[in-house]
Order: sequence, then structure tokens, then C-alpha cells
Amino acid sequence: MSKIQAIRGMNDILPADTALWQYIEQVVSQIVQGYGYREIRFPVLEQTQLFKRSIGEVTDIVEKEMYTFTDRNGDELSLRPEGTAGCVRAAEQHGLLYNQQQRLWYRGPMFRHERPQKGRYRQFHQVGVEAFGMTGPDIDAEIILVSAALWRALGLQHAVRLEINNIGTSEDRKAYGAALKTFLLSHEAQLDEDSQRRLHSNPLRILDSKVPQTQAILADAPKLSEYVAEETAVHYQALKSLLDANGVTYTENSRLVRGLDYYNNLVFEWITDELGAQGTVCAGGRYDSLVAQLGGRGTPAVGLAFGMERLVLLLQSAGEVPASLTQPLDVYLLGSEGVPQSALMMLAESLRQQLPRLRLAMHCGGGKFNSQLKKAYNSGASAAVIIDAVKGDGLSARLQRLDDAGDTFELDEAGLLVALRRLATPDASA
Ligand code: ATP
Ligand code: MG
Repeated sequence: MSKIQAIRGMNDILPADTALWQYIEQVVSQIVQGYGYREIRFPVLEQTQLFKRSIGEVTDIVEKEMYTFTDRNGDELSLRPEGTAGCVRAAEQHGLLYNQQQRLWYRGPMFRHERPQKGRYRQFHQVGVEAFGMTGPDIDAEIILVSAALWRALGLQHAVRLEINNIGTSEDRKAYGAALKTFLLSHEAQLDEDSQRRLHSNPLRILDSKVPQTQAILADAPKLSEYVAEETAVHYQALKSLLDANGVTYTENSRLVRGLDYYNNLVFEWITDELGAQGTVCAGGRYDSLVAQLGGRGTPAVGLAFGMERLVLLLQSAGEVPASLTQPLDVYLLGSEGVPQSALMMLAESLRQQLPRLRLAMHCGGGKFNSQLKKAYNSGASAAVIIDAVKGDGLSARLQRLDDAGDTFELDEAGLLVALRRLATPDASA
């Protein structure tokens, strides 16, 4: 019978990589909590309408990337392609947004039917950070500082750079979109095919076309910055001052528009040059009309999301994976011939209770002593502990380092505890 394979673009994360995922997750949760953000969890499945109304009908995500189906009740449902919409829905539904400020974060899988390639998958994972009820620009700066703190904690501050832009209000963009369209219509034949299509649906998206010929035409196009309302320009200026004061460097990219309709004023991206075309590791912006658009009372908001897979790839390519993460196990415990398995098991339990950080695997399944020792070598542990005798409340043991030198130490129970405490993996977040 043929074997069943995973769905294309949906990855298994294997034990060799999960330590790195856990490390990033631990660092992230420590940082966001350090800024007073609290975790919120919401379903991966929502009514399709939620995403259409928030992300926008004429966007790549809604037009061609959503996993949408009709369930057994005839309801139109979609797997979430991003987290902001569900986060707003959940917070609004439970009264978290009414007349209050909220700092929320979430993490989990997102789903988009895109062409799978390195750093672009159909099931991927995001961490999102959202702040509600504050008009900024201080909170905008804070959201960016959260991400900057994350890069520092992960040792990635030199691998990423920040781009920002002010995209104004939706009326500004409507007026600008019309001007841009008029300009581009006179060059329609020279535009790439994607941009020709967008010219009639969502002309602003042409700004981030990667096609050189389209880029060249855009050089003479009207500028969005000339269309944005004065108050958004003031807000943007104040944000830039806060970033300057906090030593956050950035470049202004007047063509940065983002692919989701709900943003206004500030948009930003953190970009790396190490991952090719999938260089955006984190993106966000302000979205002051989304809550009202989803039926709530007008609530200003700003947020960001970063992609876990791209962070994993970036840590690997920047050589910033902590060495301790590559060691899967601290100790492999086995007994000499004649040591009863029940005594060994009780000892293993007692050691784990006394040393909660110790990662200790006990040999199971019997076999000759030499083949047991071989399993110890193959386990990836840094030491084997061989119990030679268990007598009353004492024991005699040997600790054998499993590196090339292979040093061996004879130990009693107290000595064993001291030695094992040293082997216990330090807390990654400590
Ligand atoms: P891109 O321009 O790379 O398509 P995007 O604008 O669609 O990104 P957002 O929707 O803002 O991205 O999502 C925020 C982050 O989530 C991205 O910066 C990226 O790190 C990650 N991300 C988005 N789509 C994918 C995907 N298909 N696979 C892996 N990560 C993704
Ligand atoms: Mg995309």
C-alpha cells in the first residue's frame, strides 16, 4: 500500500528542530510579558466573513490564499490566514475592548494556499502582538521596541533592518490610488501582468511589485507622502522622534504599503537579506478602523506579527543557535548485570525529582551490557551513568563521559548528585 504523505507546504517539525522552536517561544514570551502583554488564544477556524471584512475582499490573501470550505451545517468557514482578525473578534466578543486598553499577544499556526518555497509555507506559525485603545505614537513606538528587544535577545540585531512608512487614512489612499491609477493607465502596456490586473482592483499594491520595469515606471509616479493627511504626518513624525530617542535605526520606504487593507498611518517591516525573496521576518502597523469594521465601537489599535519559520531559518543562517540546543539529552542511565530493573527505575525517578532540569533517559528493553552501552553512545547524552550496585539506601555508580576522552568517575549517591547537577541543562531563558 502506498504511504500517505503530509499536505504540500505543511511541515512536520521534528525533534532535531523542536528545541530551537521552544527556545524562540520561550524568549518571545519572556519579552512580550516584560512589556505587559498577556496571551490570548482563539480558534484556527472562523467564519469566512471575518477575514473578508477585515483583510479585504480584493487582497491576495482573500482572493486566492484562504483555505475555505462549507462545513456539515452549510456554514462558510476558513482556516485563519493571520491572527489579527481572530484576535479582534475574540477580544470584542468577550468585552475586552470596551472602554479599556489591552496589550495582547498570541501564537499559533496560520494557513495560506501559497506556492511553497523556502520561508513560505501553507501552514506556518506566527507570533502576534496587538495593543488596543491607545492612539499613539508612543504605543506605536512600543510595538516596534518589542520587536527590537526580541532581535537583541536572539542575537539577530545585526541581521535585520527596519523599514517604515506612513500610508495615511483610507480616504488619503483612495485619493492617492485614483491619482496613481491615472498615472499608470498611461503606461499600462509596459506594466507586468500582475500589476495590470491590480491596476483595476487594488492599484496601491503595484507599489511593491518586484518587477524592475514596473519599478522603473513607478519612479515618476505621484508620491503617497504628498496625499497623506496633515495629522497622520504629525503622528508619524512623533513616532520617528521616539524611535530616534531610543536608538532604533530605520529607513523610510515610501513604497511600503502591505497586503492587508486594514492598516492606516504607520506600517513597518523588519527585513533580512539572509533569506532571499522571503526577507520579511516581521510586519505590522496601525489599524484604527478594524474594530469598528468588525462591528465593535471605534478602538484605535496597532500590532505586528512575525513568522516563526523565518526566524528559525534566520537563526540558523546567522549562526545564532545556542550550542546547548544541539545536545538532546544529559544522561543515559543503565545498570550492570544483576542490578534489578525496578531498583534502576526507582533511582531514575528519584534523580529526576531532585534535579528537575536534568534530562535523563533510562535504558529500557534489556539486552547485553555492551549493547546497552552502545545505546548510551547513540543517545546523544553527554554522559552515561552505570549503576553497579544498589544496596539499602546507598549505591555505587560510575559516570562515564561519552566524548572522545571517555573519562570515568566512581561515585557514591552524594557524588552522583553533584556530578549530575553539573550536567543538567541550564534554563535557556535564564
Ligand atoms: P510576504 O510579503 O513575505 O508574503 P506578508 O506580507 O504576506 O509576507 P504578513 O501577512 O504581514 O506577511 O505576515 C507577517 C509575517 O508572517 C511575515 O513577515 C512572515 O514572516 C510570515 N509569513 C507570512 N506568510 C508566510 C508564509 N506563507 N510562510 C511562512 N511565513 C509567512
Ligand atoms: Mg504574503
